Order: sequence, then C-alpha cells, then structure tokens
Amino acid sequence: MENSGSQGLFARALQHIPGGVNSPVRAFRGVGGTPIFFREGAGPWLTDVDGNRYVDHVGSWGPLILGHAYPAVVRAVMEAAQRGTSFGAPHAGEVELAELVSRRMPSVEMLRLTSSGTEATLAAVRLARGFTGREALVKFEGCYHGWGDSFLVKAGSGVETLGLPDSPGVPKTLAQLTLTLPYNNLEAAKALFAAEGQRIAAVILEPVVGNMGVLKPSPGFLQGLQSLARAHGALLIFDEVMTGFRLAPGGAQELYGLKPDLTCLGKVIGGGLPVGAYGGRRDVMQHVAPAGPVYQAGTLSGNPLAVAAGLACLKALEEPGAYARLEAVGRALEEGLLAEAKAAGVSVTLNRVGSMWTLFFTPGPVYDYPTAKTASVERFGRFFHAMLEGGVYLPPSQFEAAFASLAMGPDVVAHTLEAARKAFRSL
Ligand SMILES: *Cc1c(COP(=O)(O)O)cnc(C)c1O
Repeated sequence: MENSGSQGLFARALQHIPGGVNSPVRAFRGVGGTPIFFREGAGPWLTDVDGNRYVDHVGSWGPLILGHAYPAVVRAVMEAAQRGTSFGAPHAGEVELAELVSRRMPSVEMLRLTSSGTEATLAAVRLARGFTGREALVKFEGCYHGWGDSFLVKAGSGVETLGLPDSPGVPKTLAQLTLTLPYNNLEAAKALFAAEGQRIAAVILEPVVGNMGVLKPSPGFLQGLQSLARAHGALLIFDEVMTGFRLAPGGAQELYGLKPDLTCLGKVIGGGLPVGAYGGRRDVMQHVAPAGPVYQAGTLSGNPLAVAAGLACLKALEEPGAYARLEAVGRALEEGLLAEAKAAGVSVTLNRVGSMWTLFFTPGPVYDYPTAKTASVERFGRFFHAMLEGGVYLPPSQFEAAFASLAMGPDVVAHTLEAARKAFRSL
C-alpha cells in the first residue's frame, strides 16, 4: 500500500522513467516538491491516489474544455472502441472531422490529422519549407511549438543573432535556420524581414500566447506580421494547438479576424485523446503527400477513437452560449483572484483571454518574454502549494496557462477563490 500513494509511485517512477514523468512540466520542478499522481477526474474535479480532491485548473493542459469524463465524449470513445481501435485505413470520422474544422475555421481549406501538436507543427514547417523552397524559420522568444529541433531555439538579443540550440542534441546547423524575435515587437520583425526576407519560409507564432503564461497580442501585431510575411513571400503559421476551438469556435484567428496560411491544431480537437492537425490554404496543402511531394505520415493518424472523441467534443461546443459561458467563468476567476490579491496586499498581474489565464507574481505589465520573467517564481511556488492545500490544482509553473472549462460552475469558482484568499494571505 505504501508504494501506491503519490510519494511511493513517484519513487518507483524515478527508477524507470526519466525524472519520473513522461513530460517534463509534470515533475513540479517549477514549484518544488514532488508531483501528484491522479486516480480519476470527474467534471472540474480531480482525485489523487491518496484520495485528495482538487478543482482542476490544468485540464490536461488544454484539451479538457468540457471537463473530465464528459459523458458524450466517453460514450463516443466506447462505441468507437467496440467497432475496432485502429484500421490504418480511411474511415468516415476523419472526413467528418475535416469538414467540421473547415466550417469552423474557413482558412483551413484542407487538413491533415496527426497524433500530437508537435507532429502538426513539425509538418507545417516542413510544408512551408517545401512550398516556398526556402529554409529559414522565424519564431518568437518564449513561444512553444512542441519539442521539434527547429523550435528549441533561443536567440540572444538583436535580430541579427543566429539561433543557438536550447537543448543538447539539436544540431547547431539546424538551429541556425531558426531566427527568433521578441513577441509583440513589430519593429524588430520589420527589421528582420528587411534583412533576411528572401530566405524566410515561414513565421510561426501563438496568436495568443499560452506557453510563457498567457500574453495577448498587441493591437496590430498579428496583422502587421501577416502583411510582412505576404510582402516577402513567406507563409504565416498560426500555432493554435492551445487556442483552437478554445477562444472562439474558430480559434484566435476568428477572434482577431485573420486568415493565416497554415494553422496547427491539437488539444481541444482531440477531446482528451491524442490528436493534432495542420491545415490551411488549398494550394499549399496540395503539396502534402500523396497529393504532392512533401512527405508526412502516421500509423495512428486519424485514429478512430481519437477522432470520435474530437468530434464529440467539438459538437458539444456547438451548444449555444458555450463560449459566452467560458468567458463568464474566466472573468469570474479573474475578478475574484484580483480582488483577493488586492485584499491581501499582494502585487500581481492577471493576463486572460477567454478561458485561458495566468496569474503573474509581478506588478507587470506582462507582454513578452522579458516582462514575463519579472514574475517571482519563488512566490508563485508558495502560492501554488498553498492552493494545493486548499484543494485547487493549478499548473505547476509560473509560466503556463490555466484553463477554465464548461464544467466549472459557481461552486467551483467559489471554492477556488476561498483557497486563494488563504493562499494570498499566507505569502
Ligand atoms: C501543447 C502545444 C504544442 C505541442 O503539442 P503536443 O500535443 O504537446 O505535442 C504546440 N504548440 C502549442 C502552442 C502548444 O500549446
């Protein structure tokens, strides 16, 4: 029995799984302590293997916009499983999902399914390179696009700086093809395009950032990038793995009224099962094999269980008022948390777009990587653990987004704010 609680399981995990986890942020390195092992989820609640209950503000890092074990999703997966878990051949669900995504996101004229967000971004960049015949990629400091070689790159200050790999194992020669810019700085982007425009295949970004905590694009920033990319023959790739179907039925691109050339999807599109997708302009997507020469494939791509979960999730989001309710939950959390922080005399900045939010322990404002880094990791860590004690599970890092879900009612918001009141006062 003693080896089946979180502590015991983590000790066992460390013996056979690097760092004891299958994805680094789960290890609690950003907040100290050891990770919690979960037994089950129901709606907005998680129960750990020691029997403690928490309001879940992580939602599996975004997919669980309906909450845990949403009945229609569970039913769809069970029914699909009974018909066979994988065919390795086409099936009707894939067509239905592609049609549904195209309807929601008109920029996505054609779509290819993958099994993760990382696969989608890797494929989109290869496609952009294959389509344009160019090799350089522009990304933004602090944006995360999965763990692909070309994305694990941080440039020093100055747009002339060549990319240096962030991780051992990423070839320097490949990293040099990734040019990094500060987020929300259109002038820097203009200078880079003026100098390097003819070798840039694509610019990729999170249209609303979630991966250095939540940041909003400044007015005109996304439009400016689109104009720059167009003027220089580069493709604009929106990485909507986090924002797609979350911020609006058509994602951030609907919210900001833009049509990127390519879009990467993941998380919500799989309803909690492994799905990713990339899609966009028909003339570009026609370059993907076997329609065209740019190779990309997947044994389990379009997996019937995953597609069934995704379809059930996206259909549930069609319920009238779903996005207004997500906004209302997000706003209630924002207003409540700011009020509790103020009452306790704690200086914070809360960035939120719809159901994505981050509480930064800094006076702010937070609008790019350096300003995000002004937040106190130490204070966040203490707040995080105080919230855990109050039965609230937040993302175990200052630099991640928290996610509201449709399963969160006023009771869950009240529980969260009650825990926050004590947590702020304990700092
Ligand atoms: C989560 C995420 C990814 C990676 O998706 P995985 O499914 O974890 O591979 C890529 N881009 C963004 C913006 C993400 O939030």
